[in-house]
Amino acid sequence: MANPLRDRRTAAEWAAAGQVIDFAEKLSFFGRLASVVEEDLAALEPAKMPASWRDSVVTGKLEFGFADAQRRVPTVACKAAVTVDAVCQRCLEAFRLPLKTGAELLLLALEETAEGYKDHEVWELEESTLRPQDIVEEMLIMALPFSAMHADLESCRALSVSADDQEDRTKPFAALRAQMTQDQ
Ligand SMILES: [Zn+2]
Repeated sequence: MANPLRDRRTAAEWAAAGQVIDFAEKLSFFGRLASVVEEDLAALEPAKMPASWRDSVVTGKLEFGFADAQRRVPTVACKAAVTVDAVCQRCLEAFRLPLKTGAELLLLALEETAEGYKDHEVWELEESTLRPQDIVEEMLIMALPFSAMHADLESCRALSVSADDQEDRTKPFAALRAQMTQDQ
């Protein structure tokens, strides 16, 4: 069955149809987003790679319509959420990172402007047609933090290790030397 997220139509066609798309798709469906997540997870040792990171479910809704009564300015309200696997930049362990995004977008051709829509952001159409998947994907990629970290300090190993471990961590060679002395 055709998935409307992958359909290509002009913004005016989507808007005129008043298309509403409720979706729940695995992360693997969103190739570009999945490769961004994969690049981040590549920092992990293979054994620590979360087994089913591609199966995280992306849910959301797109609602196409017009922003103006004259039906000239196509718009889409987009909401999307997913909890992806990510690497904590503080402790370098994998953790679950919730992402959520939402916006009202004006679908405008390049260089086109529309005055008087303060609650809307502009989505520039690079081609004559648009694919709903690309909007969802782009918005979630933009929602990714530059530096992902455990929000909950208790789960972050970098912050919960004892002072001794902390010292070993910052002086790896000292720890190694101590261990070699022990082994002799
Ligand atoms: Zn952490």
